[in-house]
Order: sequence, then C-alpha cells, then structure tokens
Amino acid sequence: MAVPKRRKSKSKSRMRWAHEAIGVPNLRPCPKCGAYTMPHRVCAECGHYKNVLVIEKKVKISD
Ligand SMILES: [Zn+2]
Repeated sequence: MAVPKRRKSKSKSRMRWAHEAIGVPNLRPCPKCGAYTMPHRVCAECGHYKNVLVIEKKVKISD
C-alpha cells in the first residue's frame, strides 16, 4: 500500500480546510404554503408535493 512520504504541513492542511466549509442548503418556497423546503422533498409544513397532498398533518385535539 502506498504510504505518504512526508507529513503535510500545517499550511497545506489549512489550505485544504479552507475549501471544506458546509454550504447553505438549497431551499425553495413551497408553492402551497410558502414555507422554505428542500427541492424534490415533501413540504414538512403542509405535507404537499407538487401541489398534491401526500402526507396529512396531525391535528391536535384540545379538550
Ligand atoms: Zn408547504
């Protein structure tokens, strides 16, 4: 198995880490309720996908 000949310098490691930040998630407003959701996912707020109700939200019954 190939083994690195030299240890990477602090500078080289830091130069790599400078490009490994987690980006901002791609969010789009839901066409039904306007809440921001990830594309190609069911909206967590209203349960719609492509304007079709996929998951019905639980409704709290207060007494
Ligand atoms: Zn929605």
